[in-house]
Amino acid sequence: MSNTETRPEEVRCTSGTAPDGSHGHPAVQILEPRDVPLGGVRAMAVRRTLPQRARSLIGAWCFADHYGPTDVRTSAGMDVPPHPHIGLQTVSWLFSGEIEHRDSLGTHAFVRPGELNLMTGGHGICHSEVSTARTTLLHGVQLWVALPGAHRDAPRAFQHHVPDPVEHSGATVRVFLGSLCGETSPVETFTPLLGAELLLPARTDLALDIDPAFEHGVLVDSGTVGLEGTALAPAELGYTPPGRARLHLTNTDDAPARLILLGGEPFDEDIIMWWNFVGRTHEEIARAREDWAAGRRFGEVHGYGGDPLPAPPLPNIALKPRTRPS
Ligand code: MN
Repeated sequence: MSNTETRPEEVRCTSGTAPDGSHGHPAVQILEPRDVPLGGVRAMAVRRTLPQRARSLIGAWCFADHYGPTDVRTSAGMDVPPHPHIGLQTVSWLFSGEIEHRDSLGTHAFVRPGELNLMTGGHGICHSEVSTARTTLLHGVQLWVALPGAHRDAPRAFQHHVPDPVEHSGATVRVFLGSLCGETSPVETFTPLLGAELLLPARTDLALDIDPAFEHGVLVDSGTVGLEGTALAPAELGYTPPGRARLHLTNTDDAPARLILLGGEPFDEDIIMWWNFVGRTHEEIARAREDWAAGRRFGEVHGYGGDPLPAPPLPNIALKPRTRPS
């Protein structure tokens, strides 16, 4: 997925919570989504919870888009032309539908429900993503992982993994990155991370053993999910800080609930996100933009029927500092 905002601002991302003026520290911080159109005439909109003013990172997770279910027979669906990435990995995870992925490594793959597709951008990669004609309902998440400074230029890579679903207290758990419920994903990450899908049947009460060094985020797809007693509505992202060894999730409804659980050790580097790039300086971002415009660095996507996505103009202000709510 691409950030297709036409006037993206640079966002300085640091771990930690922006002061909100309130006293005390509730166990769960609720991050509300904002709607962002993906671009195009009958654009599909996504619900973005990361980054936002109150929080830009959960571990190295730096971007979270949730979309659908969208009937792509009556809308444009997803059609994201070739676009570049640096300094990050993209994680595609679907609940329904199918996306055709092509990248400048030469990868031609289909993203399908329950299957992890992870692309490493490193110094520069480009890719296209198009929902297929076989798709009726498109529904899933697109997540980005910031690469730590030591691995920011990691070689381009594309990995595919289908986790075996495991049962835990009635819930169905699919661990696509990291470890949970005795399952460990074989996909290596550059920082300690967790990514899993959990299906909670009606009336479920779940306790998960988690890494106390991790902070966590619960992104609700469907149903109402209780996180440490705080109710989260669909598309909301509930955050819990490090320091706990168990996470309590409940579904008090009579219908199943589905969520994505993200986790990671707090990412202690300041990064700048602009458009589809993660960098450390404005100059690094500006160079990547120039290289994309000049057809350098990122390689070529073959087989996409259309033009690459042009880079939006850089903002006039070199770096937009994180604004703090009064
Ligand atoms: Mn992308």
